[in-house]
Amino acid sequence: MEMNVNPQQAAAHQKDGLMGVVFASLEKLLNIGRANSLWPLTFGLHCCAIEMMAASASRFDLDRFGAGVFRGSPRQADLMIVAGTVSRKMAPRIKMLYDQMPAPKYVIAMGGCAMWGGPYQYDGQYAIIEGVDRIVPADVHVPGCPPRPEGLIEGLLSSA
Ligand code: SF4
Repeated sequence: MEMNVNPQQAAAHQKDGLMGVVFASLEKLLNIGRANSLWPLTFGLHCCAIEMMAASASRFDLDRFGAGVFRGSPRQADLMIVAGTVSRKMAPRIKMLYDQMPAPKYVIAMGGCAMWGGPYQYDGQYAIIEGVDRIVPADVHVPGCPPRPEGLIEGLLSSA
C-alpha cells in the first residue's frame, strides 16, 4: 500500500522533540569533560621519559584519548606523570609542583624507578627516593623498565 505523506507535516514532525534531548547534571557533564581531556604536566626525569614522549608522538598518538597536550605549568595541569628516577634533589620540586596543581589532580608513577626505586634500589644507596609515593600520592602505577607507550596508555585509560 502506498502512503501519501504531506511534506509540511513531515517537516513539523521533525520538530516535535523526537530528535533526542539528553538531560544530565552539570557535574556529570564536567566529569565527562575532565575524563576525556586530561592535561599532563611535563615531568620526564629519566629514561622512562623517552617512552612517555613516544606515547604522545604520531605512532601512539595520546591525543586520541584527549591527553596529548602536555602543560609546561602546574596551573592548568590535572595529571602528573612521574616518568623516571626520583632523586632526593628533585623530590622537593616534585612536591611543590604537585601542591600547585589545582584539584582534582592525579599522579601516574611510570616505571620501576618511580614505583619503588627500580635498579637504583640497593643497600646503602643514598641518592634516590624509593618510590614517588613517598612524596605524592600515586593513583596509578605502570610497571616496567621502561614500560612501553602502550603501558602508559593503559594506565591513562584506567585512571580516566
Ligand atoms: S624504570 Fe628503568 S627505564 Fe625507567 S627510569 Fe628507571 S632505569 Fe630508566
